[in-house]
Amino acid sequence: MVPFPYADEYPINRALPEEGALRSDVLAELEDLARREDRTWETGQCSGTMYCGDHDHYDFLNQAFSYFSHVNTLQRDMCPSATKFEAEIIAMTLDLLGADSRSATPAGLVTSGGSASIAHAVLAYREAAAGSVGRANMIKPETAHPAFDKAGHLFGVEMRVAPVDPATAQVDLDWVRDHVDANTVALVGSACNYGYGTIDPITELGEIALDRGVGLHVDGCLGGFILPFGRELGYVDAPFDLSVPGVTSMSADTHKYGYALKGTSVLCFADRALRNSQYFYQPDWSGGKYCSPGMDGSRSGGLLAATWAAMVHLGRSGYRDYARHIFETAAAMQRAVLEHDQLRIIGSPSFLFSFTSDDFDIYHVNDFLRTRGWRLNGQQYPNALHMAVTRPQTQPGVLERWRADLADAVDYAVAHADDPAQSGAIYGGVAGGPTSESDDIIRFFMADMMDQQQSIPD
Ligand SMILES: *Cc1c(COP(=O)(O)O)cnc(C)c1O
Repeated sequence: MVPFPYADEYPINRALPEEGALRSDVLAELEDLARREDRTWETGQCSGTMYCGDHDHYDFLNQAFSYFSHVNTLQRDMCPSATKFEAEIIAMTLDLLGADSRSATPAGLVTSGGSASIAHAVLAYREAAAGSVGRANMIKPETAHPAFDKAGHLFGVEMRVAPVDPATAQVDLDWVRDHVDANTVALVGSACNYGYGTIDPITELGEIALDRGVGLHVDGCLGGFILPFGRELGYVDAPFDLSVPGVTSMSADTHKYGYALKGTSVLCFADRALRNSQYFYQPDWSGGKYCSPGMDGSRSGGLLAATWAAMVHLGRSGYRDYARHIFETAAAMQRAVLEHDQLRIIGSPSFLFSFTSDDFDIYHVNDFLRTRGWRLNGQQYPNALHMAVTRPQTQPGVLERWRADLADAVDYAVAHADDPAQSGAIYGGVAGGPTSESDDIIRFFMADMMDQQQSIPD
């Protein structure tokens, strides 16, 4: 177990304190912890996760949140503003993702995050087909997010995993075509996927979907709010959105490149009927008539307000400017990778890229970069590292540090090529495939995060 966080600096609460602490003390502790933890990413050396990275913007969102933080969006008679915010968030996202070109009744759902958008999509496909199929199945490229497998686990939908080409990270379309059967309710493509930043062949997947009469969900959780601007700027040519024939739903996370607060995502449907298939109504409960559009019950009006605020404040030009800097930086960071013969970029990525080495375990590069304060995401099968470029990397000096530190990291990796890499043991794949030990590691991680209350020091 990792030591209990901040155990020697602040009092630990094993039970509710009898007398509450002063607001000023509580806030001082929170501010101290937040400021210190913010330093881990403010350098621009951390992949993904802090998409905007601009404290003025966060202050603005927090203010927007604060006006409605205490409001429950279930009680719309008390907060018609929530209906306005939600409708406009959905309309703006549908417009951005090309919905109007194909469908008379596009619709959407604001959810609590990417996994939730994916889960609601999986549920909607299952429910829309209920009665006409046996146990529903969906087909996802291996590179599609585990949220699909999790949704399958939650809702009893079989998730068939299509292989991808290891060099291009593109899905095997023949495999997909061959595995559609009478119980298939939808296919999945990503724009772009989390591991490699590559866009699946959405046009071709759409053709298969139309041909076989199944749905196609495009996972734009990561790319939904940046790829449309990348396309305007000439960085993206592959079609990926709701304007592609056959695409029936698309998720896009406002809490990633939408630059809103954590806890929101938009799930778009080409046709309202599909969304409505997963609505929940309980008209005869003794506690009153009940309905909710998704899995959540009470939701904070603050999140809708803050998401809406981010979108209307930034506008297209704001998103485009951010995208320009991110795509430029990502391209320059990739050029720095390609300056090294030992390194290879996987597929044709965009603002997020993944690289590996055929000469040494890439986790040696990670081991060294960690000593210089970099925090990349580790991948496996094959071992690789990825960098999701966000606004913190676009700060002056970060690119230069990347180039210099990467060169030193390659030297280190060459020198240590015969030793086992340290971080590889944790994040990397086990040669020859997963083992029971690699399974234990992930269980240990979860326990470390979740069972700390049992190890609170005396
Ligand atoms: C982040 C992400 C998800 C899951 O989103 P959460 O917000 O973490 O639940 C799904 N798909 C892709 C491509 C992602 O990057």
